Amino acid sequence: MEPFFLHFPEISEKETRAVVLSAGQHGLPPDQYIFLEYYCMNPECDCRSVLLEVINSKGEHLASISHSLEKTGFWAAGGKQSFLDRHNKQGHYAKALLKFFIVHLMNADYARDIERHLLLMRKKIKKGCLPGFNIIGIKNALAAFFRRWC
Ligand SMILES: [Zn+2]
Repeated sequence: MEPFFLHFPEISEKETRAVVLSAGQHGLPPDQYIFLEYYCMNPECDCRSVLLEVINSKGEHLASISHSLEKTGFWAAGGKQSFLDRHNKQGHYAKALLKFFIVHLMNADYARDIERHLLLMRKKIKKGCLPGFNIIGIKNALAAFFRRWC
């Protein structure tokens, strides 16, 4: 997974969702909650999903939420479109953040932004700028070097 903000810092600055809760609400303490987006860069994968890393104002990791853009197939059959990602660590407020995300944050505008961000990231793969190091076998360090130029 690749962080959207590294590749598109300007769009990311405007369109990354950040929520300020001034008082304790929705089971969450007062703080700023930022939902950073990560996308799958495997050129052979078409998972059409985003991984949201939720951090607070101190940059502490709070939750990893997986959200699929698909509404058909498995998802239409009752699969959850948003869930806490089992492969990533979850903090104390992860469940409350997932609920907040589903009930208060996710809407048509946000879904459209994510869809557009996903397409931008997919274009990067097509240009050959991006990792694919798991495929081609380039070392991570080299991939990090390339990333600065794409
Ligand atoms: Zn994928």
